[in-house]
Amino acid sequence: MRRLPVRDVLTLLQSAPDATYDHAEFADGYVCCELAEGHTGEHADFLWDGGEVDEAQWFLWNGEEEFRFAVLKWCSVTHENGDGCGLFDAHALVHAWDVTDPTADALLEDLIANPEKWGLPKEL
Ligand SMILES: [Zn+2]
Ligand SMILES: [Zn+2]
Repeated sequence: MRRLPVRDVLTLLQSAPDATYDHAEFADGYVCCELAEGHTGEHADFLWDGGEVDEAQWFLWNGEEEFRFAVLKWCSVTHENGDGCGLFDAHALVHAWDVTDPTADALLEDLIANPEKWGLPKEL
């Protein structure tokens, strides 16, 4: 997770007036890598759909200082259930459906182990 360079994002948005931009998604000012844990190379987070249907705007970064914006083609692989992979073409490691989010997994484990802490009845 890293801070989104908000000023750069706004500049980019101004140059892409057709972008469907979900303000809520950036309200916290952070981006979270969508690639599988342990990948090499840059981290990546989807920003918004591109002008072409098979393209999207991505934010790529390498540590705090290095980052870039790039329009990338979608990964063309489709899961056997018909879902498209939500990552960009030639991404590292596994496709979107096999990416696990350790933070979300940890929260879910805690919720199951300590439901009362989350305001839920003891028996789920
Ligand atoms: Zn990453
Ligand atoms: Zn993929």
